[in-house]
Amino acid sequence: MLTSLIKAFTNLFKKPQTIDYPVTPIIKDREYRGLIEYGEESCIYCLKCEKACPPGAILFVKTETPSENEKNKKGLQYHYNPYLCIYCSECVRACPKPDEALWQSNKKPLPATKEGKVNESWFELEKLKKTE
Ligand code: SF4
Ligand code: SF4
Repeated sequence: MLTSLIKAFTNLFKKPQTIDYPVTPIIKDREYRGLIEYGEESCIYCLKCEKACPPGAILFVKTETPSENEKNKKGLQYHYNPYLCIYCSECVRACPKPDEALWQSNKKPLPATKEGKVNESWFELEKLKKTE
């Protein structure tokens, strides 16, 4: 009991072990895995990233009225769901053009919106994908 009291008292004068976030910014690790970024110009539409993604956070869905440019790219449109993503980097590992077509940035994941409509449009995309 007395030991605990002494420890608690001395702790009052020690530097805190926690970071005063958001006043003090968090220093990210060099290997920090953040949001996935996509470079449309370099993508060859092999869909390896889509197949490799464990939670299905990447979807290539056919656009209803593809532009001339999209027709050249099989009429597929890239979609990424940062709320489903588990930041495992499997998609980047599977991509034949890493760092050009797909890469993992050190950008932080997005906060969920207050409206709770995080995945609403995503469910529509998933339905579309199943009917292809
Ligand atoms: S990092 Fe993992 S979960 Fe996120 S999109 Fe890539 S494969 Fe999917
Ligand atoms: S794996 Fe890379 S090149 Fe293939 S579709 Fe995905 S982003 Fe494009």
